[in-house]
Amino acid sequence: MKIICIGRNYSEHIKEMKAEATGSPVFFMKPETALITEGKPFFYPDFSKDVHHEVEIVLKINRNGKNIEKQFAHKYFEEITVGIDFTARDLQAECKKKGLPWEMAKAFDGSAPVGRFISKGDFVNLYTIPFHLDINGTTVQEGNTRDLLYQFDTVIEYVSKFITLKQGDLIFTGTPVGVGPVSVGDKLEAFIGIEKLLECEVK
Ligand code: MG
Repeated sequence: MKIICIGRNYSEHIKEMKAEATGSPVFFMKPETALITEGKPFFYPDFSKDVHHEVEIVLKINRNGKNIEKQFAHKYFEEITVGIDFTARDLQAECKKKGLPWEMAKAFDGSAPVGRFISKGDFVNLYTIPFHLDINGTTVQEGNTRDLLYQFDTVIEYVSKFITLKQGDLIFTGTPVGVGPVSVGDKLEAFIGIEKLLECEVK
């Protein structure tokens, strides 16, 4: 399986990063070794001094597809959850400055904790879903899918032009405003609505 991540998909986050909105979705990938499941801990990597949290809604692809049209994209995922797109912001800044790819800042081992998946059928409207991240009991990031610049169907259509989506692939759909650093000992808890779907301790 592979993990596809969408960048710059919430305008307030684009502003906090002092970045520019893009005319089409921007995406990058993480390998399977980035995945953390079932509440296992995240081990702070020794190559960074500034690992940031980015809480995101995650889609699980449930069938294979290529060149998926937007109108059919909804058939390619049944379950969603929240995940953390851990980012070594110091390394990313270096990459950006040099115009280099972001992989070492984004794709490292353990950089993609994901929560328990729930059925998208639990939601009347996929584009009014509130989600948030707490660290040590304090809310640090809050988002709502109403603010997505590129909705799930658009993302699936776009990415599948370039890359075949396969059953079991995950799509991180972008982070809202409020990214910031994590420290060893932090306890991260991520929610959709009031339902806690993800727990991850930083060790
Ligand atoms: Mg992200």
